[in-house]
Amino acid sequence: MAYNFISAKAIMSVSMMDLIMDLAQARERMVVEQLERRGIRDPRVLAAMRMVERDRFIPTEYAAHAYDDEPLPIGAAQTISQPYMVALMCEVAQLSGLERVLEVGTGSGYAAAVLARLASVVYSVECIPALYQRARARFAAMRIGNVHLRCGDGSEGWPEQAPFDAVLVTAAMPGIVRPLLEQLTPGGRLVAPIGEDDLQTLVRISRRDGAWGEEYFGECRFVKMTGRHGFKPE
Ligand code: SAH
Repeated sequence: MAYNFISAKAIMSVSMMDLIMDLAQARERMVVEQLERRGIRDPRVLAAMRMVERDRFIPTEYAAHAYDDEPLPIGAAQTISQPYMVALMCEVAQLSGLERVLEVGTGSGYAAAVLARLASVVYSVECIPALYQRARARFAAMRIGNVHLRCGDGSEGWPEQAPFDAVLVTAAMPGIVRPLLEQLTPGGRLVAPIGEDDLQTLVRISRRDGAWGEEYFGECRFVKMTGRHGFKPE
């Protein structure tokens, strides 16, 4: 019996190791094929995307798709973003490692975990309590200490922690949201999908010398931002 028990354990750990290796290979392939080939260049962003295990941020039934080139359901009718979109937003935010960053739309916590490797401290707001709770448990289990979460309406920003060097909105905004711009430092940038509820443009709005500059980074599709400055419920 004792022998069987040990061998069963050994077999399990071999298959666990296989799984971990498979996931690591899939992650590396994701970085090369989905990010580098599509033009993500920032070495810090590529390194962070190589490190953060997207498989830990999705429901187990989607484990086999953890590194697919697409968003995945995370419950409450919300999604974890496509890896490319997370990398693109992080690159567009131009982070050097010293920044205070606000994310609106914690969702699974994946983008916040990537941002945690690229900035000094991340504040992230989620309005759906079940998703907020799940993300909180993940950050505790993963011992990620430089991400602060809050459950509430992120369309108002996080005034008590402002100003931020970068604000990333990972839900679609119907237009420019004044409180988020007002919470930027001089030189700060807001990166957000802005547009209709079914198609948006990724926009970077930068605050330079008291003036605002706008740059565009292509079309994208995010779930809607709700809340005071978001899309109104149908
Ligand atoms: N960044 C996430 C993906 C976000 S999906 C990830 O990496 O998994 C968009 C999220 O924004 C959803 O979880 C949604 O509930 C949240 N959201 C939408 N409107 C919001 C608001 N006004 N305040 C805070 N969170 C909001």
